[in-house]
Amino acid sequence: MKAVRFHEHGGPDVLRYEDAPDPVAGPEQVLVRVKACSVNHLDIWGRIGPPYSSPSLPHIPGCDIAGTVEEAPAGEKELQKGAEVIVSPGIGCGRCDRCLDGKDNQCRQYAVIGNGPDGGYAELVAVPRKNVLAKPERMDFVQAASVPLVFLTAYHMLVTKAKVQAGETVLVLGAGSGVGIAAIQVAKAYGANVVTTAGTDAKLRKAVELGADYTINHKTKKISEEVKKYTEGKGVDVVTEHPGKATWDESIRSVTRGGRIVTCGATTGYDATTDLRYVFTREISILGSYMGGSGELLKVLELFKQRRLRPVVDISMPLSRAKDAQVRMEKGEHFGKIVLTP
Ligand SMILES: [Zn+2]
Repeated sequence: MKAVRFHEHGGPDVLRYEDAPDPVAGPEQVLVRVKACSVNHLDIWGRIGPPYSSPSLPHIPGCDIAGTVEEAPAGEKELQKGAEVIVSPGIGCGRCDRCLDGKDNQCRQYAVIGNGPDGGYAELVAVPRKNVLAKPERMDFVQAASVPLVFLTAYHMLVTKAKVQAGETVLVLGAGSGVGIAAIQVAKAYGANVVTTAGTDAKLRKAVELGADYTINHKTKKISEEVKKYTEGKGVDVVTEHPGKATWDESIRSVTRGGRIVTCGATTGYDATTDLRYVFTREISILGSYMGGSGELLKVLELFKQRRLRPVVDISMPLSRAKDAQVRMEKGEHFGKIVLTP
């Protein structure tokens, strides 16, 4: 098959579009013919390698997969060859207390397809049967591949961790990022007011189309000052963080007394500085969030069925241009998801 692999860690140049052996589905695995696979920051962490991530080499990235069933396990009744599916990206052991509680993302053996095992930057991928879900009918393959990781992440951050309430104000950093487009919509679906940021006015206009109530151009304005103006000095109830170092201090200064900052990433750097005076005097809660439980993805898909959420695709590119796709993401030129098609 054709695949994009890297044989060593490094910059975008280590990504090679090349022939690779067809994967073989093990017992209780499904062989999926990939129709679309979206690009995530996790792919870039895997490519850069330690200390971020250390997949075995050569490695095929790609966590967000939509495609058709090529080969189902023997005795499988529901999945026929050709069935249109999406792949839930997280794999827990299925036996520990966390997995059995539906918190498989806290499993000590938790892995993300494309970050641990080989992923979807390929024509074929073998994945566990339990990760294979029916593709929502209203979405094409490109739209479907744009959904799982970022919407699962945003749902887990806002609903499960921050327990967002109707009428609260949420600051969503990075409106154009995958987590940003998802968090704006999830917050609105739960009745919250949304303040969001981006580096261009064009992106901010698109954020308003997605439902954002107030926007801040972070290149020309100071986020915390704009937040204070909008909230009449109070601050926001919840911040969804993923840039990390570049925005962390502004997040701390933007949140109200008793508010919550929920972080799922550190795309601009992990060694942010926390002014602890704000944390204790204002009783700020800092909540870590990583992916989400597999049951939560089903709840997200239900919200898509009800049309309370919609996919946002920035661009679809051929798999052979995976390097250009990752560079586009690293430069922050995108609004929404970048999707690769084999
Ligand atoms: Zn487990």
